[in-house]
Amino acid sequence: MDRTNWRDVPMPPQIAALPREKRGFPVPYVANWLPRGGQRDEHIDIRTNIEYGLHDACSCKPGDPEWEPDLGQMCSPRQRRCMKHKRCQICTIKLEPPYLLIGSPKGDTDTWYTEPPVCTSCAAYALRVCPGLITNQRPVAVWACTGYDITDQRLFALPDGEPIVLRTEGDSPEVRSGCLTYFMAHPLDGEPVLADQWLHTFEQKGQT
Ligand SMILES: [Zn+2]
Ligand SMILES: [Zn+2]
Repeated sequence: MDRTNWRDVPMPPQIAALPREKRGFPVPYVANWLPRGGQRDEHIDIRTNIEYGLHDACSCKPGDPEWEPDLGQMCSPRQRRCMKHKRCQICTIKLEPPYLLIGSPKGDTDTWYTEPPVCTSCAAYALRVCPGLITNQRPVAVWACTGYDITDQRLFALPDGEPIVLRTEGDSPEVRSGCLTYFMAHPLDGEPVLADQWLHTFEQKGQT
């Protein structure tokens, strides 16, 4: 398996159809976008509504020629949409179980993912080319589950002004005083399989 150059890895059709960043690398649906030359922090767009309380509504404009993708950051509303409606975070296809969650779980029972699920062929592509997965310090695994619990990740300001990100349960006024950023997923069953092993099985099935 060649992980050295993403250009050598064939793109599944749904990935080939995605917008591209300046090098030609495909931009996942969930990626955040910034005004050209802009800063990430300028585009937290905090609003409030009945459903979420305080939340980051993000005002990014994916695909707009004046904007460019920020592959290192997920767009909050898009992230929440994928988590809640079980859509692939890369190509947006509606997913059926098993749902694939990719990350570096510690192997305990309190594993929470901020990365939304992915479809099978997007998972295989991402595991081969995604810089964040290939260069991860900890082993990357694929966790297939028949369902997942969702909870909120919220941003609270400490008295000294430092922001802190917490996973929160319920919707008390205290919880809702924090700004909802992402939804987090906890797999209800299954177990993580190391990325190389998962890719090997995928290739054996001839699904490349
Ligand atoms: Zn956004
Ligand atoms: Zn996909």
